[in-house]
Amino acid sequence: MDGIMNEKSAVRIMVLDDEPLMLKLLARMLANQGVSQVTTCDCGRSALAHVDGPDAQPDLILLDLNMPEMDGVEFVRHLVERGYGGSLILISGEDERMLRTAERLVRAHRIQVLGHLSKPVRPEGLSALLEKWTPALPPGPRKVRRVYAPEEIRAAIDRGELVNYYQPKVVVATGELVGVETLVRWRHPEDGMVFPDQFIGIAEDHGLIDALTRTVLTGAIAQCRAWKETGLRLRVAVNVSMDNLFSLDFADFLAAQTVAAGILPQDLMLEVTESRLMQDARAPLETLTRLRLKRFPLSIDDFGTGHSSLAQLRDIPFDELKVDRGFVHRAWADELVRPMYDASLGLARQLGMEVVAEGVEDGNDWAFVRRTGCDLAQGYFIGVPMPAADLPAWMADWDRRV
Ligand code: C2E
Ligand code: MG
Ligand code: MG
Repeated sequence: MDGIMNEKSAVRIMVLDDEPLMLKLLARMLANQGVSQVTTCDCGRSALAHVDGPDAQPDLILLDLNMPEMDGVEFVRHLVERGYGGSLILISGEDERMLRTAERLVRAHRIQVLGHLSKPVRPEGLSALLEKWTPALPPGPRKVRRVYAPEEIRAAIDRGELVNYYQPKVVVATGELVGVETLVRWRHPEDGMVFPDQFIGIAEDHGLIDALTRTVLTGAIAQCRAWKETGLRLRVAVNVSMDNLFSLDFADFLAAQTVAAGILPQDLMLEVTESRLMQDARAPLETLTRLRLKRFPLSIDDFGTGHSSLAQLRDIPFDELKVDRGFVHRAWADELVRPMYDASLGLARQLGMEVVAEGVEDGNDWAFVRRTGCDLAQGYFIGVPMPAADLPAWMADWDRRV
């Protein structure tokens, strides 16, 4: 289905705001846009009663965050419990940062947020949001994301269904290709290509991440060797989960593999992400220190998010800092994100680390990282993750573009 606003008369929109005047105003604006099925509610309880009622759930809800009794955030939680599959527009008189925080919260619940509107709401703002609205999924049965059982992931590792994709990392100043990041994919016999966010967490939770990482590493090391033989010196980065570092023979395993393949520790880069708070950091610290003594370069991944933060920078001798894409993409246009990008860059500089900007998605991002003097960059604008066999064609194309 193309932009749903082509079928405005068919969409059901609910407006929830405690101010009667606001309800009238928004209903009129929607009517002017050609939307005919609008329900207005002045409190969360009556809105939920409507959602629970015999009529189909709304396709879109315009939601005021500030309401007495049930506020907008609480309302969203009730929507989640009801498996709401439509979209949301947030409305508030709060400042921009507050609205954005709420927006992120709703996204974390996997509800599509078209954006937010500050009060007083202007018709142009509303119509701009409606124009870009393509419902995530057409009405009808919604595709559910499969949740995989640990045994299925175990079997996938054993059957060799995991494949390595590689995403280019280039020097910002020259465009030169200097490395790749290995990103694992699961070529599932029925479900097609499955992305890591659907199985890495489960592997971590069920003691499978060691086997998974070793499989990925073995493939990446072999690939690095193969590139070396064709005269292509690429530093191959591999993502290492904190859980891997609890296994005390990890450093020895890696050292043995590189020697056997005839590559150097410096040909690799270990990107470390911490997905959860560590109870006891001694074992990972020991492993990281030993890896560093063996000259394996270490990178702190997704810097600025989760637990990937200052304490880690203090405790672990990282060689590279990857600024999370949340602080790169559109940082040039965003006065909130820009200071965080700048701070990450400054921090890395002062600590003598190389900086990689992740999530360079378009020409504007690319111009921005060039302007700000970042060392390396990675992102869809430069190149998407690809099988090793596709790299030569990408290189030829990139040479022409850069
Ligand atoms: P990451 O290490 O931060 O990897 C970068 C992710 O961002 C990749 O997602 C990549 O496809 C995506 N990406 C690259 N350029 C852009 C861009 O311009 N815009 C946007 N929006 N995204 C971009 P992917 O492949 O889905 O991997 C997700 C995460 O899964 C990785 O994040 C990494 O933390 C984890 N992961 C992937 N492979 C492995 C692995 O072998 N072992 C472990 N432990 N984790 C892995
Ligand atoms: Mg990474
Ligand atoms: Mg990252």
